[in-house]
Amino acid sequence: MNLDVVGEPGPTGVAGGADVWVENWGAQAMCRMEDPDVLFVQGAAQKRVKAVCGGCPVRTECLADALDNRTEFGIWGGMTERERRALLRRRPTVTSWRTLLRTARQAYERGPQRASA
Ligand code: SF4
Repeated sequence: MNLDVVGEPGPTGVAGGADVWVENWGAQAMCRMEDPDVLFVQGAAQKRVKAVCGGCPVRTECLADALDNRTEFGIWGGMTERERRALLRRRPTVTSWRTLLRTARQAYERGPQRASA
């Protein structure tokens, strides 16, 4: 994986953008052409992988999938396995991370002026 490449945010990262939830998110993954093993690094190398996730246009979809499926290992959606476990412990009542994250992203994209209207 070329860990020096950080892509541009996708259309969903633009304030006021449409509600676009990418079902086939793997096709747009920043890491799709890379050796999958790079997602399973430990220690300091995780920081570099997380930086790649930060520029991935389907980060939210990837993270929701990992959380909903309780994916145990690897970095997904910019979070390490340890970070995901901690998040799942903090929010045990969440039944659908996909719904939660999608709703949060919609609210963010509407922006504060539209949210209060
Ligand atoms: S967010 Fe997910 S799909 Fe995107 S680069 Fe990271 S691990 Fe790959």
